[in-house]
Amino acid sequence: MTDHDYHDWGLFVDGEFTQSESGERFDVENPADKTVIGSAPEGTAGDIDEAVRVARETYEETWRHVSARERVDYLLEVADRVEERAEEFVLLETLENGKPLSESRTDVEEAIDGYRYYAGTADKTHGDTIPERDDLFDYTVREPYGVVGVIIPWNWPPMHTADFTAPALAAGNTVVLKPAPETPLSSLLMAELWQDVLPDGVVNVVTGDVAPGARLTEHPDVDKLAFTGHTETGSKVMKAAAEDITDVMLELGGKNANIVLPDANIEKAVDGSYDGIFNNQGQACASGSRLYLHDSIYDEFIEQFVAKAEGMVIGPGTDEETDLAPLASQQQYDKVRKYIELGKEEGASVIHEGKLPADLPDGYYVPPVVFGDVTQDMRIAREEIFGPVLTVQRYERVEDAIEMANDTEYGLTGAVWSRNMEVANRVARRLEAGLIFVNNFVNGFLGAPFGGYKRSGIGRKLGFEETLDEFTQVKTIRSQIAPSEDGAIDEYYD
Ligand code: NAD
Repeated sequence: MTDHDYHDWGLFVDGEFTQSESGERFDVENPADKTVIGSAPEGTAGDIDEAVRVARETYEETWRHVSARERVDYLLEVADRVEERAEEFVLLETLENGKPLSESRTDVEEAIDGYRYYAGTADKTHGDTIPERDDLFDYTVREPYGVVGVIIPWNWPPMHTADFTAPALAAGNTVVLKPAPETPLSSLLMAELWQDVLPDGVVNVVTGDVAPGARLTEHPDVDKLAFTGHTETGSKVMKAAAEDITDVMLELGGKNANIVLPDANIEKAVDGSYDGIFNNQGQACASGSRLYLHDSIYDEFIEQFVAKAEGMVIGPGTDEETDLAPLASQQQYDKVRKYIELGKEEGASVIHEGKLPADLPDGYYVPPVVFGDVTQDMRIAREEIFGPVLTVQRYERVEDAIEMANDTEYGLTGAVWSRNMEVANRVARRLEAGLIFVNNFVNGFLGAPFGGYKRSGIGRKLGFEETLDEFTQVKTIRSQIAPSEDGAIDEYYD
């Protein structure tokens, strides 16, 4: 698949690539054919301790004294470097995650945009002045936390790396990043650029899985945690952080409802719903995995949707023709396959199950599946499957659709399709989720806050003010404006 093997990188600490304390490495697999494309150090709790020590020292001695304008320049330079090597990032992401090259391209572009966008926040961070009483006034300043621990999943490695390191750095924090074990190489390639551009120790990367991740979340010298992953892991992160009252930002799972109203433009709704579930092989927290169709348009919608799904090209991500690539790992493959079997056992009908081409290599390919006759109590309608599996339910009254949509422990996104914008926006207001799409399913806008209600998370990324809030803390300074003694200023007016 590639003439490059990625076995060279170590942990990235204090500007150097080093081996882990354990001396061990783990293999990184290409999900398209299960070949080993590289490896990364098996980081330990001790490696995290060292990375946090370096991040603290760098924060105190260097980074907190770097001016906002300089931080802008640093981040813009990182963006330029990623852009110069964009195709390298794209190929590497497809090799380690499996996704189609077109999706990796979008991801890398979003990472570049992210660095530029957050660079712009560095010198636009300001506080307020607040009138007090008598001879006092208050003003606020936003200050960095210090050391930020960032833990990311495998589904959009370059974008997640940028979305959490860039605003943290822009705000003046230093960072310890723990990438997912499935996709550590994208972050280590990023570290190669950071090594050239940023002062040593400003960002540090420790690869590995639970051991370094858990240590980072309980480390007493980490001041803020930004975690993205499963809701169950997020709950563990929050418990670990509670010991030291460490502030957490949690971007977690979703089981998102997509409601098509009777007057929707069916063609557009089909296209949007198709992207909403199959983008990233369904491995998207925001994916529209629960479809609610009004009785009157059910047959027409399903006919068009299935026709579109039948045209889907399933293949390796490196093939430019591929629409649906393999899932990212053995674990994902086993889990999604299990849910497909479970749906059948639970009594859902199979509206569509794609056929895998006979000549596919031995990778983690799963066909797209559309389940009908689904009921709210089925596990396939309640649990996050995180694959190309769609559940479809009918409704008669819009009120029922809203009730079913909200009948979930998650609250990340939702969608509604209608030609009547008043009704669409009324429904949008009723859905209990952090982002609602009206007549579109376009995810990931820099500038617009993104995050979950309920068990989908705490905090917001991407929004300007909201992201500043996540990576800075507010200090109030109450100051006296009048002279401390009567008449003390008189001498200046004589
Ligand atoms: P995961 O929870 O298994 O792992 C996420 C990260 O946490 C990995 O780096 C992992 O090594 C680390 N980790 C595992 N156990 C840990 C522990 N005890 N303490 C600290 N860190 C630990 O999730 P995943 O399979 O990598 O990602 C898929 C999940 O992420 C899905 O639920 C998806 O919805 C969610 N996700 C959410 C968003 C969002 O913005 N809300 C975005 C992308 C993915």
